[in-house]
Amino acid sequence: MYQFFAPGGLLSRTHPAYEFRRGQLQMAQAVEQALEEKRHLIVEAGTGTGKTLAYLLPVIRSGKRVIISTGTKNLQEQLFYKDIPFLEQALFPNAEGKLNVCYMKGRNNYLCRKKLYDLTDEPVLSGLEEIEHYRAIAAWEKATQTGDRAELASLPEASALWHKLDARSDTCLGQKCSSWERCFITEMHRRALESDIIIVNHHLFFADLAIKQASEYAPDAGILPEVGTVIFDEAQELEDVAGSYFGVSVSNTRMDELCRDVEGSLQRNKLLSASISGALKSQRERSQLFFSLLPPGEGRFAFENRREFLEENGEEFMALQQSLLRLISELENLPSKPEEIFNFVRRAQELQVQLGFLMESEDRNTVFWIERRGGRGRGGAWNLFLQATPIDVAPILKTCLFDKLECAVLTSATLAVGGGFEYMRRRLGLEHVRELVLDSHFDYASQAMLYVPPDLPDPRTPQFAARASDRIRRLLEITRGRAFVLFTSYAQMNDIYQRLLGELEFPMLLQGDAPKSVLLEEFRLTPHSVLFGTSSLWQGVDVQGEQLSCVIIDRLPFAVPSDPIVAARVRAIDAECGNAFFQ
Ligand code: SF4
Repeated sequence: MYQFFAPGGLLSRTHPAYEFRRGQLQMAQAVEQALEEKRHLIVEAGTGTGKTLAYLLPVIRSGKRVIISTGTKNLQEQLFYKDIPFLEQALFPNAEGKLNVCYMKGRNNYLCRKKLYDLTDEPVLSGLEEIEHYRAIAAWEKATQTGDRAELASLPEASALWHKLDARSDTCLGQKCSSWERCFITEMHRRALESDIIIVNHHLFFADLAIKQASEYAPDAGILPEVGTVIFDEAQELEDVAGSYFGVSVSNTRMDELCRDVEGSLQRNKLLSASISGALKSQRERSQLFFSLLPPGEGRFAFENRREFLEENGEEFMALQQSLLRLISELENLPSKPEEIFNFVRRAQELQVQLGFLMESEDRNTVFWIERRGGRGRGGAWNLFLQATPIDVAPILKTCLFDKLECAVLTSATLAVGGGFEYMRRRLGLEHVRELVLDSHFDYASQAMLYVPPDLPDPRTPQFAARASDRIRRLLEITRGRAFVLFTSYAQMNDIYQRLLGELEFPMLLQGDAPKSVLLEEFRLTPHSVLFGTSSLWQGVDVQGEQLSCVIIDRLPFAVPSDPIVAARVRAIDAECGNAFFQ
């Protein structure tokens, strides 16, 4: 390790911006030791340590198959397109030790060929925009090797059509699908099986783990291959992401999508009878009624009075459960069953069981909550989510993850609490773990400037946008653009972007206008540009040099104490005699 990272070593001879970073060498040595000893390791490595190279080098030298899981797509791209090719070139200049590396995104980033072909047979598109998107996707499908939507730079991030065509697992027929052999997910799985390094994000990792656990590790469950070593970068997000995949969520949208998919399939296959139409109608009506009765409120809030709610609305709940059972029985009684019918039965059964859990479970390690989104504009529809999230994921992670792995390395710039990892270990169920805290390589006091406007109104007030836009404009004039302006909500981002449009003399880029990787590349290549974005650009973005000289954020992205999951965890920590505030 020393010979690689030290002055005069291989890194100094191959990296254009080489600096000796003692923390980077220490981290690489700690990772190498953890891999050799088959121990877990937590490393807090301050900004500027160069932690990706510090774990990649020992991983490559170990010769083990490894999954690297990150919090953001930005970091995945940095690893795949920059850091690993750089190391390959430095270590194997004659391509003698070429690595097999694969980069897997969440399934919803890939096209489902079956859905596209079904739509081609029976085009049901709404509006000119969908027709235009359909044409672009259909033409691209013939040429793409990966099915990854990032290749379709012209497709807006929020495309409604893409949502109907993506390869999400709940609608996938698996090996029974007629397009299985040519499926992009099958291909990704094959590539992963042949790879030395598999790059994923935490969402894909935990979605896969939850699927494997639910199917008791059946050999064909999940798409990630079995490995003994996992590196979790940006590991501060593990508890939240794991919680969301080991929880349960039922929404009115999920109910509607099931009805829509059943109807479309039966129509295509000429199997739509009067009795199934009746079952679908009843299912839709009862779902609509049940969700309309849920307690009022916007955003995320706790569903604390479930028992009282059921006492008042038990009939409507039972009616919805009955309508799901009727739909299941109608589908099971179909005289001939195309393969997707089995998938619809499974989806309806899952909804029925999960709805029962959400309304009736008394599990003390679960927080039950509601999320209400949308509903804006004339006739805007609400999306309502009934959710159950484990309060403490430690026992789950201990048994189904950390006890099974030989070595897990958890790293981030922010992991330690009070200089140690006791809190982290307890929240994640990590035992027998080595620990390392490294300071940042940067001297913030002399290299950076922090400005907090003392006079701006509360970001939640209507006056904020106008006053903040004015201040942002002045800051950007001082820095000559070259900035990220980041927001905690899309609404605030769009509002302030519109206010500054035409007011700035610098090129302005807006998240959502193109895939993030395209926007970031444009930002890097366009002098003095300003990128307006949201939380996905908070971390994992690497823009070197003066091109990014200023980062403006509208408010600190702290966990809100009133958030139902945060509140439940705070209560649980306090009850255990801890003090949640300091943790
Ligand atoms: S296997 Fe699943 S994801 Fe792949 S094409 Fe078929 S249904 Fe779509």
